[in-house]
Amino acid sequence: PVRTRFAPSPTGYLHIGGARTALFAWAYARHHGGKFVLRIEDTDVERSTPEAVHVIIEGMKWLGLEHDEGPFYQMQRMERYKEVLGEMLAAGTAYHCYTQPDELEVIREAQRARGEKPRYDGRWRPEAGKTLPTAPAGVQPVVRFKNPADGVVAWDDLVKGRIEIANAELDDLVIARADGTPTYNFCVVVDDWDMGITQVIRGDDHVNNTPRQINILKALGAPVPQYAHLSMILGDDGLKLSKRRNSVAVTDFDAAGYLPEAFVNYLARLGWSHGDDEIFSREQFVEWFDLDHITPSAAQFNTEKLRWLNAHYIKLTEPAVLAADTAKRLAARGVNLAGGPDLAAVVALYRERVATLVELADSVEPYYLQVQPSAELAAQHLTEAAQAALLVLAGKLATAAWDKAALSAVIKECCMELGLKMPQLAIPLRVKLLGVAQTPAIDAVLEVLGREAVLARLK
Ligand code: GLU
Repeated sequence: PVRTRFAPSPTGYLHIGGARTALFAWAYARHHGGKFVLRIEDTDVERSTPEAVHVIIEGMKWLGLEHDEGPFYQMQRMERYKEVLGEMLAAGTAYHCYTQPDELEVIREAQRARGEKPRYDGRWRPEAGKTLPTAPAGVQPVVRFKNPADGVVAWDDLVKGRIEIANAELDDLVIARADGTPTYNFCVVVDDWDMGITQVIRGDDHVNNTPRQINILKALGAPVPQYAHLSMILGDDGLKLSKRRNSVAVTDFDAAGYLPEAFVNYLARLGWSHGDDEIFSREQFVEWFDLDHITPSAAQFNTEKLRWLNAHYIKLTEPAVLAADTAKRLAARGVNLAGGPDLAAVVALYRERVATLVELADSVEPYYLQVQPSAELAAQHLTEAAQAALLVLAGKLATAAWDKAALSAVIKECCMELGLKMPQLAIPLRVKLLGVAQTPAIDAVLEVLGREAVLARLK
């Protein structure tokens, strides 16, 4: 059975790359009817925080990527890592190394001076017929993995194709520090083994760790999973994503008014494709997803395309659902909705006209505020003649029937009487009512605002 995992380090927010990795690992498991495991790699105690764990879990909830097992925390698995270390020492696949950091530096200096790649020279590595140095008193050793000396380590990466590394290129990795704590690559190996992971799907910044991890798995007699290394995601500008220049955290997209359905649909297309299909549901994605159609080259973020998708999903969302989101955003701005028009009705006027939920909130906000048109708009549209016309209109509206057809008729009648073209009345009306020159159809706006509010605003 397929078992995939998402293994974030809780050292910051959940970023786009991590979210896409999680999405693909989740979709792979769902497609194959397997399990998706969440593992928190929190062994970097200096940089890991409970807030970051919270943000990651919340981000995955927002994306709708529910896990079947976990979260497992590496810091809670220390005993298990130590147990495996003990087994490897006993089996001779790992050994104690007493070389001190300053000694290592001397070794490396000499290697550099000879033009060689600096690496551990294997002085404590046990070999048949070799006499090891005597352990210095009072020195705590590190544990090193006894990497195979010859041959190659190879795997068929599900994204990048076959990768081969000569074992001679890999030195004996430290798998436990002098204080006994296991190192990163070792914890990953034990976890992937214990958790029965069948496909490791992760960012290609880990591709260099893979040959080491495979060697350790083999030394443990553990099955070697398949690996899929996803290429990185570039910003709109074709440069590496950076916190300073781009929106990078999943929470940024939530705050910027993207619907999770739209964001997930967008992420799915970042480095994966299914023909020319651009818009598809989560269920459809799961049905289609496999690792065959992943592009090995870097994917480029395209905010315009995300906006286009988001506009599409907003159009399909029930006004009541959009209204709930808008209410939250407006409350956060201190806008009081009480006594104003029905929010779902106002939202319904705008849901086909906006690309984000922030734009929706911006459009709807003036319905709940005392509107003061900008000096510029007022000078342009609220001329004396226009104000006089609005007064005539207000008189008619005071007694008009309050539905779209009737309101439309009143406006037309008013235009006829005053010899105005439709925009000569409708634009000043919009500016006066909502402080903007463009709105949905004016009869619909009037209907939603209600007589009382309209007359109050026209005064
Ligand atoms: N903890 C690693 C990271 O956040 C992922 C390791 C893995 O997927 O093997 O980059």
